[in-house]
Amino acid sequence: MPDLEYLKQRLPLLDYLRQRQWIARPTPGRQEFVGRCPLHRETRPSFYVNPRKNLFYCHGCGRGGDLIRFVEWSEHLSFRQSLAFLQRQIAVTDLAGVLRQAAAFYELQLHRHPEAVQYLAARGLRHPALTTELGIGYAPGGNLRGHLMAQGYTFDQLLRIGLIDRQGRDAFCRRVVFPCRQQDRIVNFYGRSIGAAFPHRLLPRSKGGLFAWESVSAYRTVILVEGLFDLALLWQAGLRHTTCALGTHLTPAQWTQLSQPSDRVVYIAFDQDENRAGQQAAQQLARRLESTGIAAPIVQLPGGLDPNSFFVAGATAADFTACLQQARRV
Ligand SMILES: [Zn+2]
Repeated sequence: MPDLEYLKQRLPLLDYLRQRQWIARPTPGRQEFVGRCPLHRETRPSFYVNPRKNLFYCHGCGRGGDLIRFVEWSEHLSFRQSLAFLQRQIAVTDLAGVLRQAAAFYELQLHRHPEAVQYLAARGLRHPALTTELGIGYAPGGNLRGHLMAQGYTFDQLLRIGLIDRQGRDAFCRRVVFPCRQQDRIVNFYGRSIGAAFPHRLLPRSKGGLFAWESVSAYRTVILVEGLFDLALLWQAGLRHTTCALGTHLTPAQWTQLSQPSDRVVYIAFDQDENRAGQQAAQQLARRLESTGIAAPIVQLPGGLDPNSFFVAGATAADFTACLQQARRV
C-alpha cells in the first residue's frame, strides 16, 4: 500500500485538475477555486477546490473529498485502482521533470564545449536559432548525476530512467543530445557520439512518436528521414514538412501517425548504406504505406549521400526538391 499522504502531496488536487484543463477562478476571499464540475453536467460553476486542505466539494451533485475520491468518480475506478492510476501519473510527471532538467543542463553545456559547437558546424548546422528550437545540447560526461541530485532527484531515479549507469557514470558521454518530445513533454534523448563510441544512443525506453509530429502532421506531403541531423538540415533549408523516425524501423505509434489520413504523400529519404539496409527498409515501408493507399515515393540522392551529407556537400533546397520530383514509387 503506498503512502497516501505522500501521494497526495506529490500530486496536489488542484494541479491534477489543471493538468486536465479544468478552468477555475479564485473565490472572492481567494481561499478556494471555483469552476464547472467535472463530475456532472452543469452550466454554472459549483465545484469548489480548497488548495490548502487539498479537498473539493460540488454544491451541484453533492460529491466531495480528496484526490483519490475524485479519481474514483471521474475514472470509474475502485479505491485500489485509483491509487495505482495516480502512481502511474506521478511516475510520468517525475520522468518528464527529470528529463526536462537534464535537457536544460545539456543545452547549457553545449556553449561551454567548443568541440560540440565545432561538431554541429561540421554536420552543417549553421543557424543558432534552429539549434535552440530543437533544444540541442551536449553531454560532456561525468557531471550530470551531481547536478540532478542537487535538484533533489535520487540516484535510483536516475539509474531507473537510464541517465546514469550503476557506477553513477553519465549514460551520455561526449554526445550531442537531441530531446525527443511528445506534446511538449520530453520522452527520450537521442545522443550522437562525437568521438569513437558507437554513434547512436537512446535512453532504454520508447523513442516516442514521429519527431515534431505536432507541427509536421499539418502537411499533406511529408518527408520521412532516418536521423535527426537529416531532419535538422532539411528544416534549415526551409523544408519544414520533414519528420524523423529515429531509425528505419517504425514503432506502432509512429506507423499510426504516418498512415493517417490515407491521402498523404510520404517521401522516404533514408540513408543509402553500403549494405543496402536503408534501401531495403525504405522499400518495405513504401510497400506497406502504398497498401493503405498512401503514395510513398523513395528519394535517391546522388552519390549515395544521405540528406545530411547532401547538404554538407553544398546542396540547396532546390537541389533536394529536384530529387523529390525524381523520386519513384515502388
Ligand atoms: Zn458536481
